[in-house]
Amino acid sequence: MSGRVRAYCAELEQRNPHLADVLWHPAGEDGRRSPKATRLAIAICRSCPLRLECLTDAIVGLYDDDSIYGGMSRRERQRVAELMEADGVEIRRRDRDRPERRRRECLAWLRANPAKVAWAGDSHAYWSREWAKRKQKHAALTATEQAS
Ligand code: SF4
Repeated sequence: MSGRVRAYCAELEQRNPHLADVLWHPAGEDGRRSPKATRLAIAICRSCPLRLECLTDAIVGLYDDDSIYGGMSRRERQRVAELMEADGVEIRRRDRDRPERRRRECLAWLRANPAKVAWAGDSHAYWSREWAKRKQKHAALTATEQAS
């Protein structure tokens, strides 16, 4: 996450380590993160010049915790990995050798699929769709029961 271009979290950490810790620290013992801190971390990450590289490192398993990386929660990163695997890019398999190759494939996929990345990162829309599907299923079941 370094190089000539600086990560936004690293810049903030230099100026205000406490705030950076609040925004990007992994969830506490109770497994919860402040929703406000999470939203702010996501917004900062999404404009970070190293976002895709950061997301790649998190997805291939370098940062496998509940913090926000690349503007995504752990669940959202898992969803991205599932989409990649559906496209034949198996980047999460720990038993595969050549981690650099997994990293390259992951980054290439992220760059080539901005719409899928955006879709996977939109938790609210995802759960709205899930909720709409469940409501439809429930309505269909109710209609079947009433008809019989
Ligand atoms: S995308 Fe990654 S490197 Fe950039 S601010 Fe977020 S956590 Fe830091």
